[in-house]
Amino acid sequence: MISQKLQDAINYQINRELFSEYYYLSMASYFNSLSLSGFENFFLVQAQEERFHAMKLYNFLNERGGRVLLQALEAPKTEFESPIEVFELAYEHETVVSGLINDLMDLAIKENDHAVKNHVDWFVEEQVEEEDSMDTVLSKLKLINGEGHGLLILDSELAQRTFEPTEE
Ligand code: MG
Repeated sequence: MISQKLQDAINYQINRELFSEYYYLSMASYFNSLSLSGFENFFLVQAQEERFHAMKLYNFLNERGGRVLLQALEAPKTEFESPIEVFELAYEHETVVSGLINDLMDLAIKENDHAVKNHVDWFVEEQVEEEDSMDTVLSKLKLINGEGHGLLILDSELAQRTFEPTEE
């Protein structure tokens, strides 16, 4: 049986993953309003990934005999100044999520729960990719000053992204 502390922490992480889905959906909608459908696709796929993260934790907590308790989600930011600002915020958001995953791992170690540690290990790896993915697009956007033909080329590139759930 999983400890109450870990149950609470996993429920909080489920909430943060679902908020991430909401946040990235809001970013997708912003790009739709700019007619940048490749950038929109990038964030629609990212939103799918966040739902996948939440469901991994949902399934795990249920398997461990815990109870998933959903909490309120705050409204995400809806207006952005530029594509560069969106990626700065998305990158910053992923660093915050990485911090939460580290906190969850610290607690699993403290509670000596090896199954949680093993499960959270996947997320530790995943966060390296998440930060890198946002940072890579941000770097490219800065190279082209977030505008002009370069922006359209990048838009075409991001249109190719598809959702590929990675299993353990
Ligand atoms: Mg996530």
